[in-house]
Amino acid sequence: MWIGLSFFGFLIGTILGSFAKAVADRLNKQDSLRGRSYCVKCKHILAWYDLFPVFSYIMLLGKCRYCRKSIPFTNLAAELVMGFLVAGLFLTQAFDFNILLNPTVQSIPLILNFIFKIFIVLVLFILFLTDIKTGLLPDKVTYPAVGIAIGYWLVACGLNSWLFYLSLKSNFLGKYLMPPYSNYFWTLIYRIWEPAIFSIIIGIVSALFFAFLIIITKGRGMGWGDVKYVLFLGIALGFPNAIIGLFLAFLIGAVFSVILMGFGKKHFGQTIPFGPFLSLGAYIALLWGPQILNWYLNSFKLGY
Ligand SMILES: [Zn+2]
Repeated sequence: MWIGLSFFGFLIGTILGSFAKAVADRLNKQDSLRGRSYCVKCKHILAWYDLFPVFSYIMLLGKCRYCRKSIPFTNLAAELVMGFLVAGLFLTQAFDFNILLNPTVQSIPLILNFIFKIFIVLVLFILFLTDIKTGLLPDKVTYPAVGIAIGYWLVACGLNSWLFYLSLKSNFLGKYLMPPYSNYFWTLIYRIWEPAIFSIIIGIVSALFFAFLIIITKGRGMGWGDVKYVLFLGIALGFPNAIIGLFLAFLIGAVFSVILMGFGKKHFGQTIPFGPFLSLGAYIALLWGPQILNWYLNSFKLGY
């Protein structure tokens, strides 16, 4: 079962990886995001059979069908890496795929949540690629991503509220749990919306914190692109995963900087883009956030 599941996740990942690489390349070259895929060397429009992730690269032996120049190896690498990232998501989220075979109204929020997580990984990967290449986190990605994340919470919580209302209505005792008999209804509606409210608050607070960092460091190390990226991460990951993700980003960034300085590649105070570390931290938090928090709290108890 898990082999089939990870392979399915890998396949979806390679398609998204191919898409993410094309989007990042176009953003890096300030190119339009519209229009069909083309060879970066000869600009020839690619045929549908040239667009299979991984498979096309292997069949063409890494060379363009039209100009015979080599296709960037990073294209294949992006497809493979994203394949593994999405396979990891499929394996860790314990999503019950049987609900896809027999979907009910109740399963829609679960399906929506899983699709949203795949979307988060896609955003993380595109911004990883743009920041590592050009040091930029384009507004063309961060703004729509923030919009979609807020939209997700509105739709998911709205749907859950409506399902809850329907379940109370269909129960013959349900009306006694609703106003004017009881406040139970509003208490539970608040419970349903609580994660959405917390996510938006954590997004704004994290963005303000990064803005504060930029002001006190006078813009060395981080830019306003990071502020918008962190706003997205806060809203998308929610509480407490967003905090864990940011903490991991700082931790990985610090370790990486020390290693680079150790090899004499960078000097103290020299900047490296922070976006890739945000992506790494967020990915780990998305997959294992609750486990990391548990482990951390338990190690705290032992040391007491
Ligand atoms: Zn070509």
